[in-house]
Amino acid sequence: MKHLLLSLAIAAALPAHAQQQELARIAAQPAVKQALAYIEKNEATTTANTLAINAIPAPTFAEAARARDYAERLKAAGLQDVRTDEAGNVLGTWRGSGKGPTVVLAAHLDTVYPATTDLTVHEKDGRYYAPGIADNGRSLAAMLTIAHALRDAKVQTVGDVLFVANVGEEGLGDLKGVKHLFSQRKDIKAFVGLEPALGTGGDPVTYIGTGSRRFKVSIHGPGGHSYEGFGLPSAIHAAGRVIARIDEIRVPAEPKVTFNVGVVQGGQSVNSISAEASMLIDIRSADAPLLAKVEQQIKDAVQQGVADTNQRWNSSAITADVALIGDRPAGQMSKDSMIVKTALAAATVQGRPALLDSAHSTDANLPMSLGIPALTMSGGGSSGGYHSEKLEWWSPQNAHAAPQNVLLTILGLVGVRGVSAPLAR
Ligand SMILES: [Zn+2]
Repeated sequence: MKHLLLSLAIAAALPAHAQQQELARIAAQPAVKQALAYIEKNEATTTANTLAINAIPAPTFAEAARARDYAERLKAAGLQDVRTDEAGNVLGTWRGSGKGPTVVLAAHLDTVYPATTDLTVHEKDGRYYAPGIADNGRSLAAMLTIAHALRDAKVQTVGDVLFVANVGEEGLGDLKGVKHLFSQRKDIKAFVGLEPALGTGGDPVTYIGTGSRRFKVSIHGPGGHSYEGFGLPSAIHAAGRVIARIDEIRVPAEPKVTFNVGVVQGGQSVNSISAEASMLIDIRSADAPLLAKVEQQIKDAVQQGVADTNQRWNSSAITADVALIGDRPAGQMSKDSMIVKTALAAATVQGRPALLDSAHSTDANLPMSLGIPALTMSGGGSSGGYHSEKLEWWSPQNAHAAPQNVLLTILGLVGVRGVSAPLAR
């Protein structure tokens, strides 16, 4: 999870709709009731698993140890075909009738913390403090409990549930794990990702994925002595012109789109005309066309800034290249989409508030950008201090509610034999 701002909105009063009726029927089926009860009864085990899974370091690009452990846990939960793919994702299948859609339930394995980070848990005032415990240790444990619940209650699904503990969600991982998954599997009809519950206000559904594109702009020049070589164009001076042009880009307030030159480097010494300068740029929006538009404006600003510098110094020696260093595609679901209605109905039929969350950047961005129904749900409990070694915490307050919502959502999507047809298709 990348965005930490929290804003909850109670979904506008929903009319009794098809999804709600389907989920009410599913929730009343004896096996499903047993599975939901299993999640509540076994919350202490889920909490213990949260601590155990989080104790294994899993920085982005080094998730293998946690992945091996998690694969054993999925096997023990009775999933079939448990394996680790080429990217390092752990996959396991809950088999349906063979005649339904494949729906993915996913949680990322990686954390933002280096391998040397002290992962010791400190308990205080009913909270567990440890780096990664909420993001995403809790979600991994919740996903495991859902697998156990399906087996314990022998729930018969129409479609397959593909459980995925994926790599590379955080930072420079750039959604590596889910990108690989969707490049390999063309049969996925819906995707539910798990991330920590934000704050203490319930278990909201994230249906808007903030996309980001990141670039490194490198500017090259001839270099030279500041006195002897005066008259030669400078890469740093060109970078200044480029940044001034980027700074002038005007964007709408809505839909939101942002840009930032975050790091600038270059130069050799105070008396050298610089031969090299570089900058790192981040652009973000949940609106894919707008993101692309601002990206083009920034690329134009680079070319214009370079041209201005060459013209000023009567030269053609300054050049620039732009390299993509991060790509998290933007995507969003409509509030009226099947998958959003299904997830909200899962809460409603259990007597819980139907909550929608603000935009976040998560694994669900990728399927959303491909047009595949996708959203992010809470792994349960309350939490905060994400991505902060000393501050990250998780509390098991009402923690079984979110995995119950997730299970019911997944069952709605894949369908339950003899009860309801799959809503994902
Ligand atoms: Zn996360």
